[in-house]
Amino acid sequence: MTDDYPPLETEIRRRIAAAGPMPVAQYMTLCLTHPQHGYYITRDPFGAKGDFVTAPEISQMFGELIGLWCAATWRCMGSPENVRLVELGPGRGTMMQDALRAVNIVPDFRKALVVHMVEISPTLEKRQRQALAGVDVPVEWHQSLDEVPDGPIIIVANEFIDALPVHQAVMCVDGWHERVIRIADNGLLQFAHSRDPIPLFDQMLPRPLRNAPIGAIFEWRADQVALEIGRRVVRSHGAALIIDYGHTESAAGDTFQAVGRQTFTNPLQSPGTVDLTAHVDFQALAHAAQALGADVHGPVDQATFLRRLGIETRAEALKKGAPLAKNAEVNSALTRLTGEGGTGMGKLFKAIAVADPKLGELPGFEKEPVETTRTPPLLGSKRTG
Ligand code: SAH
Repeated sequence: MTDDYPPLETEIRRRIAAAGPMPVAQYMTLCLTHPQHGYYITRDPFGAKGDFVTAPEISQMFGELIGLWCAATWRCMGSPENVRLVELGPGRGTMMQDALRAVNIVPDFRKALVVHMVEISPTLEKRQRQALAGVDVPVEWHQSLDEVPDGPIIIVANEFIDALPVHQAVMCVDGWHERVIRIADNGLLQFAHSRDPIPLFDQMLPRPLRNAPIGAIFEWRADQVALEIGRRVVRSHGAALIIDYGHTESAAGDTFQAVGRQTFTNPLQSPGTVDLTAHVDFQALAHAAQALGADVHGPVDQATFLRRLGIETRAEALKKGAPLAKNAEVNSALTRLTGEGGTGMGKLFKAIAVADPKLGELPGFEKEPVETTRTPPLLGSKRTG
């Protein structure tokens, strides 16, 4: 009967038939990273014609500023002779390409670094290899952060955490139950909740969330990645910069969503063909990293972060002497990256850094407001290729 479905949906239905309703996190893992049919495994979803557009794909300014952040952070680390520059979930490799070009103005940093790309998708790894084919620094690929060798480390991740599987719990009369996916009587995939409540779940929640109303949904992710980041930056004397969309404080709400061709769709329809994400709970991320002794900087909203790093100065430099069309393109990218309404990413997206406490204050996370003009304008110019 299931033979009429595409291969991934057949597999999901087979598992539900064999083992019972499937937790949302397991469904998300299969849809995104199933070794043959997962969304990220089979396709390159980025760009204007793709399913969604990320900050590095909007403008070269984003990756360039991230590159300069890394160079400045390396200085805060005492400019170690060898440093691992790690990117988690690098997509098309655009951010690293732009970052490496920008740090041409810091040759001693460039000389010290080895790039480590952590990517689960062979399709996107291929794309990243093309993007970085011309760079003159060593680049290695890994499937997970724990494969990156020990030593001084700077980690960057843009829109990576939101792609990691999220669990959901639903408040019922007798407590919180895990939200699951089952096959309904009409044959469609459908949300439901597990039969038994999750023991002691209430006590693990931040206080304001206890006694939530019936029907409330709470989301959480496994802590492994946040813990590994915290452990690495403390042990290896380094820092991590994470940029994503989400909330600064843990809150109830259903943010599990599917995006295909830049519009929201039903997450239970056509598994593996649309992107599935959920907001990042920055408070939970911060707590996990702090538990391992890391300092947490921020979160600050993306607009503030990019302005502090000098995005306005960089935009002016790009526009100088450029044709009108280029000027309009730079202005619109600036609005998209730092704006608040509509498609603006400035407020919804946040930056957080997790670092060895020895590093002190990090660029973009200053306690006092800083003047953006303090950041030197970037040299180097247009993106090539
Ligand atoms: N940072 C990029 C891409 C974001 S999309 C950008 O801003 O454009 C998420 C990226 O994470 C993709 O490259 C995807 O293949 C990768 N990814 C998703 N789950 C992963 C996992 N568990 N381990 C490593 N990479 C993963």
